[in-house]
Amino acid sequence: MTAFQGKSVLVLGGSRGIGAAIVRRFAADGATVTFTYAGSAEAAQALAAETGSTAVVTDSADRDAVIARVRESGPLDVLVVNAGIAVFGDALEQDPDVIDRLFRINVHAPYHASVEAARQMPEGGRIIVIGSVNGDRMPVAGMASYALSKSALQGLARGLARDFGPRGITINVVQPGPIDTDANPEDGPMKDLMHSFLAIKRHGRPEEVAGMVAWLAGPEAGFVTGAMHTIDGAFGA
Ligand code: NDP
Repeated sequence: MTAFQGKSVLVLGGSRGIGAAIVRRFAADGATVTFTYAGSAEAAQALAAETGSTAVVTDSADRDAVIARVRESGPLDVLVVNAGIAVFGDALEQDPDVIDRLFRINVHAPYHASVEAARQMPEGGRIIVIGSVNGDRMPVAGMASYALSKSALQGLARGLARDFGPRGITINVVQPGPIDTDANPEDGPMKDLMHSFLAIKRHGRPEEVAGMVAWLAGPEAGFVTGAMHTIDGAFGA
C-alpha cells in the first residue's frame, strides 16, 4: 500500500501496544515515520528495524523535550499523540506528584505537541490524539485522574479544530475501549469485568485502532474535525 507515500508522520509513544500498531500501519502504507519512546529502548529499536522507521527517545512528561522533538521532526503531515499512562488507586492515598506526571503526559504533551506541530504543518495536515472511552464513561473506582485526562482531550480537539480549521488542518480524538496491550492484557485479571461492559465480548486489537487512525489521517476524512471517534465494542454505549 502507498496511501501515505511521501507523507511525514510522527507518533509520540510508538514503541509498544497501540502506538506500535500505528507505526506499523503508516510504515506499511508508505509514510516516513518517526516515533518516540521513553523506557522501552529494545522494543523501539526492534520496531524501527522491522518497519524502517526512526525511533527517538523523548519523555512525554518533559514539555520542552516534546516541543523540541515536534519542531525538529517538522513539517509533519500527520501527528499522532499516543503516549499515555494510567494510575490506579484510591484518590485519597495517591501521591500528587505521580498524578501531576500523568497530567503532563496525558494532557500537557498532547496540547503542546499539537500546537507546535501546527506551526509548520501544511494544508491538509492531520492531528490525531489517542483518548479513551473513559473520557465519556468511567464505570470503576480508582481512575479519576485518567478519566479527567482523557475528557480533557475532548476540549483540546474541539478548541484546536477552530484554531486550525481555516488552514485545512484537522484534529480528532480516537477513543478506544479495552485494547489488548501490555497496559490492558486480555488475559489479565480485569478480563471478566471489562468484558461484562462490552457488547462484543473481547478486547479490541491494536491494529483495529490503527485502522481508524489511518482513516482519519487520509484524504476521505478532510471534513472530519473536532470530533471523538469511539472504538470500544460498545463499552460506552
Ligand atoms: P502501553 O502501556 O502498552 O504502551 C504505551 C506506549 O506509550 C509505549 O510505547 C510507551 O513507550 C509510550 N509512553 C508511555 N509513557 C511515555 C512517556 N512518558 N514518554 C514517551 N512515551 C511514553 O499502552 P497502550 O498501547 O495500551 O495505550 C496507548 C494509548 O491508548 C494511551 O494513551 C492509552 O491511554 C490509550 N488507551 C489504551 C486502552 C487500552 O485498553 N489498552 C484503552 C483506551 C485508551 P515506552 O515503553 O518506551 O515508555
